[in-house]
Amino acid sequence: MTEPMLALAGVTKAYGAVAALAGVDLDVPRGDLVAVLGPSGCGKTTLLRCVAGFERVDSGTVRVAGRQVADGHAHLPPHRRRVAVVPQDGALFPHLSVADNVGYGLDRAERRGGRVEEVLDLVGLSGYGARMPHQLSGGQQQRVAVARALAPRPPLVLLDEPFSALDAQLRAELRADVRQALRADGATAVLVTHDQAEALSMADAVAVMDAGRIVQHGAPAEVYRDPATPWVARFVGDAVLLPATVDADGAVTPLGRLPLRGRAVGGAATVLIRPEQLRLAPAGGSAATVVRQAFHGHDALTTLRLADGTLLTARTLDEGAALPAGAQVGVTVRGSVRAYAGAD
Ligand code: ADP
Ligand code: MG
Repeated sequence: MTEPMLALAGVTKAYGAVAALAGVDLDVPRGDLVAVLGPSGCGKTTLLRCVAGFERVDSGTVRVAGRQVADGHAHLPPHRRRVAVVPQDGALFPHLSVADNVGYGLDRAERRGGRVEEVLDLVGLSGYGARMPHQLSGGQQQRVAVARALAPRPPLVLLDEPFSALDAQLRAELRADVRQALRADGATAVLVTHDQAEALSMADAVAVMDAGRIVQHGAPAEVYRDPATPWVARFVGDAVLLPATVDADGAVTPLGRLPLRGRAVGGAATVLIRPEQLRLAPAGGSAATVVRQAFHGHDALTTLRLADGTLLTARTLDEGAALPAGAQVGVTVRGSVRAYAGAD
């Protein structure tokens, strides 16, 4: 197996009493984009700063491209790690043109060799080299920041919530374009974000972070389908978590007996159902009353109450007419569910 481009082992970093990183293990294979997904304050920026060399780690090791760059004693300064960072606000030099911003980290030969134009083309900005940053939209400025990061062909590109200041439409477009630019350039990247849609749609693998630790690391579909804990289930998407009793034949839940996937846990449990697994029909399955429906264009989220008072949310596509509050429906579950030991 070839060595990962980035390898963190047991990395800790505290600020006074706050354990920002509480023992982080993370491998990023060459050419991959790994998203570190976690809530605000969980340590994502600290992780990137320790990899880039802006912070010293307290213990553990950081290896970039097969070379150890930091441990509890040694610390290679940022410029010797050659790791590129794309910050949230782009942080372009306001007094330099787009081309000069992008060429900033290159020597003269590299600049003459056409690398600046090449990376501007990758991010969809060919012909913009003479512009000044203030003549660009927010999205274009972030594209320049990505081009500047890629230009010196760094072993690793780190992106810290690079789209969070942009509106939804622009964000979706930029995610796809930046993903494609990174892939076309063969870059290895770590993207940190608190936005689950961003992580799931862009990354080869998602590392879910909570309170200074990676709590799950897997392919996007795996993290969504088989979250390691109820907390991860809620964080990476909409989750219906119901109390259940598990036996050899499945889980007994307020929606009846459901087939299980993954590890079996006996006795009292919590089961995870994704809202798109719930099917609504005029009758059949478990009887429920519609509490409200929120229409989102591509789908609708319908909140339901079962006879025992349990509340659930179903995601439905074009199930015909809108369901008014008070309507009676039957709920069935499609596919298998995941169980966790104990009550939620
Ligand atoms: P995230 O990027 O996931 O929002 P951060 O890495 O910025 O999280 O912060 C992790 C924790 O470390 C937070 O509790 C934050 O308040 C604390 N922290 C971050 N930087 C510093 C600092 N320079 N001094 C003191 N505490 C800090
Ligand atoms: Mg941050």
